[in-house]
Amino acid sequence: MQELRGKIIADQIKGECLDFVGQYNGILPALAILRVGHKEADLSYERSIKKRFMDFGLEAKDYELPENVSNEEFQQVFDFINQDPEIHGILVMRPLPKQIDEAAMLRKMNPLKDLDGITDANVAGVMRGDADAFAPCTAQAVVEILKGHQIEMAGKEVCIIGRSMVVGKPLSMLLLQENATVTVCHSKTEDLKAVASRADILVAAIGKAKFISSGYVKEDATVIDVGINVDESGNLCGDCDWDQIILKAGAATPVPGGVGTVTTAVLAKHLVQAAKLQMKLAPIDDSVDEYLS
Ligand code: NAP
Repeated sequence: MQELRGKIIADQIKGECLDFVGQYNGILPALAILRVGHKEADLSYERSIKKRFMDFGLEAKDYELPENVSNEEFQQVFDFINQDPEIHGILVMRPLPKQIDEAAMLRKMNPLKDLDGITDANVAGVMRGDADAFAPCTAQAVVEILKGHQIEMAGKEVCIIGRSMVVGKPLSMLLLQENATVTVCHSKTEDLKAVASRADILVAAIGKAKFISSGYVKEDATVIDVGINVDESGNLCGDCDWDQIILKAGAATPVPGGVGTVTTAVLAKHLVQAAKLQMKLAPIDDSVDEYLS
């Protein structure tokens, strides 16, 4: 069985980011990470982004607000970041505390800075198949892994288990764009094993540790495990039971070291794309003009 490691894909993206920064020194794509409170999962994601961005030659600035911040203060900080021409991308750690009007934030977020595809403009753009629309980074990471490992998607049966706005739904659109035949499953799907085990490519985005056993996997299928969970011994694990799926799958992503590794790299790729799109609106100098033409 082939192990589809994310590092290979992340390294390719790193090369693209370093090329951009090297070619246009003086232009430093900058990400703003907006976090409310101190959830360990948010802090750990933020640390991995900052480390990755440093390696990729990009900037990541954090904007930290207390858990009990008022909606008014939150919106002021958000407006500042949203309008700052030196910030090219925004990542808001969600869910936000309930006093924050998230809908108001989404209505005013500049879609060109919306690297994780949460605004209506980007959701619609992904649905239409617009090349410039930002899809959620995790959904995009799944496609990057399949493409990067030359796994054929066109005409293939793909089963996605999970229908969230962060993974399952946008991924179904991205895979349709790649001409796959897509089935999206969820907690009400009847006979999930029968549906999943028909798929040439099985994507698990459920959030249940080691839920997928060999019975869900077609012989030689490709299995992409999006899940990030903690098992009974406190170790990080995916939605798939690795010891089980290797009995059937032809290729599979490990956890850790699979989709998560590529997700932060896609965030970096989106930041560079956002910086290019924003400079197209307000070119900084001739060399940028030339690059964009
Ligand atoms: P979510 O919003 O909780 O969605 C989970 C989905 O799984 C729902 O659609 C749910 O169905 C479905 N589901 C739950 N139990 C099921 C069952 N027994 N059978 C079939 N479907 C079932 O989760 P998410 O945000 O999409 O995240 C999914 C996983 O990916 C989590 O482990 C999360 O930590 C991980 N994740 C990883 C990354 C990364 O970078 N690698 C990024 C984001 C998320 P219903 O809709 O019917 O409830």
